Amino acid sequence: MTVPTITLNDQTKIPQLGFGVFQVPPDQTAKTVLNAFEVGYRHIDTAQMYENEAGVGEAIASSGIPRDELYITTKLNNGFHRPDDARRSLDESLSRLGLDQVDLFLIHWPLPTRYDGDFVTTWRTMAEFVEDGRARSVGVSNFEPAHLERIVSETGVVPVLNQVEVHPFFGNEDVRAACAKHDIAVEAWAPIARGKVAEDATITGIADRLGRTPAQVALRWHVQRGDIVFPKTVTPERMQENFDIFDFELSDDDMSTITALDRGEEGRGGPHPDTFDMIPD
Ligand code: NAP
Repeated sequence: MTVPTITLNDQTKIPQLGFGVFQVPPDQTAKTVLNAFEVGYRHIDTAQMYENEAGVGEAIASSGIPRDELYITTKLNNGFHRPDDARRSLDESLSRLGLDQVDLFLIHWPLPTRYDGDFVTTWRTMAEFVEDGRARSVGVSNFEPAHLERIVSETGVVPVLNQVEVHPFFGNEDVRAACAKHDIAVEAWAPIARGKVAEDATITGIADRLGRTPAQVALRWHVQRGDIVFPKTVTPERMQENFDIFDFELSDDDMSTITALDRGEEGRGGPHPDTFDMIPD
C-alpha cells in the first residue's frame, strides 16, 4: 500500500499518514516504532514533551530504513521558547534521534500567556533552523487564527503546517480556514478522538455498511478532506487497521454526514490554545 504525499508550501513532501507516539512509554517506544515500520509507516510524530525521542532514534537506527525514506517530526517543548533554549533543545533532540536533521520541527504550543505573549521571537528562531539545515521544514502546532496572522504578518515566514486537534466531533473549521488562506497544511491530532469514534452510532453505521472499522472511516474522512493524520496505537493489529485506509472511498454523502457530527467547542477534547500554559518540570 502506498501512502500518498502532500506537497507543503516549501515544496517538500510529507506522507499523509503517519504514526504518533504521544503517551507511548519511553521503554516501549523503540519496539512500537519498529512494529509501525514493519506495517509500512514511514512518518513518525514525536515531541520533546513525550520524552520518547530516544526510543524513536533507536528504532530508526536499528531499522536499516534509508534516512530519505523516513519523515521525522519533533516539537519544541513549552519551557524552551527563548531563542537560546530553542537552539540548544533542537541539538538535544537531534542527538536523541540520532539525526543531523529533522524533517519537521514545530512550536508545540503558542503559550500566549507566557513569555510576555511573545511567540513571534520563537517563530523567528525556528526559521533559523531551516537556514542552518537542522530542520528541513518548520511549522507550528495548536496555533489559533490570531496566532497565525501574527507570526505571518510580523515575520513574513509562513509555517508549512499547523498541527491541531481535529476529529469528527471537533472540526476546528476556523483554524482550518485560516490555514487554507495562507496555504498552510493541517495536521489533525487525536484523529480518531482517542478511540471515541467507535462509540458513535453514525460512524459505526457507515463502517458496518462499508465493511470497515470506525477508526478506518474516521481516518479516511480526514484524508479525503486533505488533512495529514498520525493515529497512535501500541497494538500491532490496530497499526495495520489504521494503515489500511487507501483502498476505499467515502461518498460525498458519507463525508457530509461525518462532517455534521462537529459539536464545535463542546467537541474539543484537549486544552484551548489561548489559555494552555503548562510548562513541564
Ligand atoms: P488518537 O490517535 O486519536 O487515539 C489514540 C487512542 O486510540 C489510543 O488510546 C489507542 O489505543 C486508540 N486506538 C488507536 N487505534 C485504534 C483503533 N483502530 N481502534 C480503536 N482504538 C484505537 O489520539 P492521540 O494519540 O492523542 O493523537 C495522535 C497523535 O497526535 C499523537 O500520538 C501525537 O503524535 C499527536 N498529538 C499532538 C498533540 C499536539 O499538541 N500537537 C496533542 C495530542 C496528540 P492503544 O494505543 O491502546 O491501541
